[in-house]
Amino acid sequence: MMQSIRRKKRLFLSLWLVGVLGLAALLFCKVTQPEPGCRAEDLTRIPDDALMVFAAKRAQPAAAPAQDGAPATDGPKRVFLTFDDGPSATTETVLDILKEEGVPATFFVVAAENNEKYLPLLQRTVAEGHQIALHSCSHEYRAIYKNPAAYWADLKALRAQIAPYVPDAASIKWIRFPGGSTNTVSHKYGGSNIMKSLKAQAEEKGYHYVDWNVCAEDAAGGHPSASEIYHNVVDDVGDKTVCVVLMHDTRATKNTAEALPDIIHWFKENGFEFCTVSALESAEEG
Ligand SMILES: [Zn+2]
Repeated sequence: MMQSIRRKKRLFLSLWLVGVLGLAALLFCKVTQPEPGCRAEDLTRIPDDALMVFAAKRAQPAAAPAQDGAPATDGPKRVFLTFDDGPSATTETVLDILKEEGVPATFFVVAAENNEKYLPLLQRTVAEGHQIALHSCSHEYRAIYKNPAAYWADLKALRAQIAPYVPDAASIKWIRFPGGSTNTVSHKYGGSNIMKSLKAQAEEKGYHYVDWNVCAEDAAGGHPSASEIYHNVVDDVGDKTVCVVLMHDTRATKNTAEALPDIIHWFKENGFEFCTVSALESAEEG
């Protein structure tokens, strides 16, 4: 009798231990598994800035050459604030700041498991005059860059996910490839020509893909401070007259939101006009 009770006790304790260890392992996996989204090491080092350079040239045709040492007449300078990987727990703060400052931005969105619950925020984003553009549904490089069909299927899934909140989801033509259009992270999944194929197909299908020429470097693992993010942006501007600024909107990029007012003030003080990336279209097609 006593032996049977002891056996039962041992069995119960073993089961309890297995349960606890299992739960711990599950939590560990959840914590250590990186969330889908841009990671600094995966971003292309040399983005395709053809669109920005072209827009810059068009922005300044009337710039008069400097005479007698006088400064050249400046053409309109334009800044395009862009946020990748949202919506997220940080989106509302970003929207509050943009509203307060009265400037528009473009959001290259995702609809992965970790951010699905924030998708209704896209309604407010649209209502406040910002542009919604496509980034990726899953943002899993392994899946989306396996082959072109997989990439387009992912984009279609993203459209379906955001459609309840974005009235013109079906006709969005602006995309940003995860990692950028010249990324190499895709090569190990889809071969070294995958981005070349995707870019050609994007053009055939009438898409405009847009990279960046100013980077906040806010997706870095070390979580740069607001001050570092601000300086990353300002230092990258140099003498550019068209700036497409890459920032991120995730629960890990609160510091980007903190830096945002100063970044906006800097562009205002330096005479930049704020636009959404759809304004690049006239530059491209003109
Ligand atoms: Zn991304």
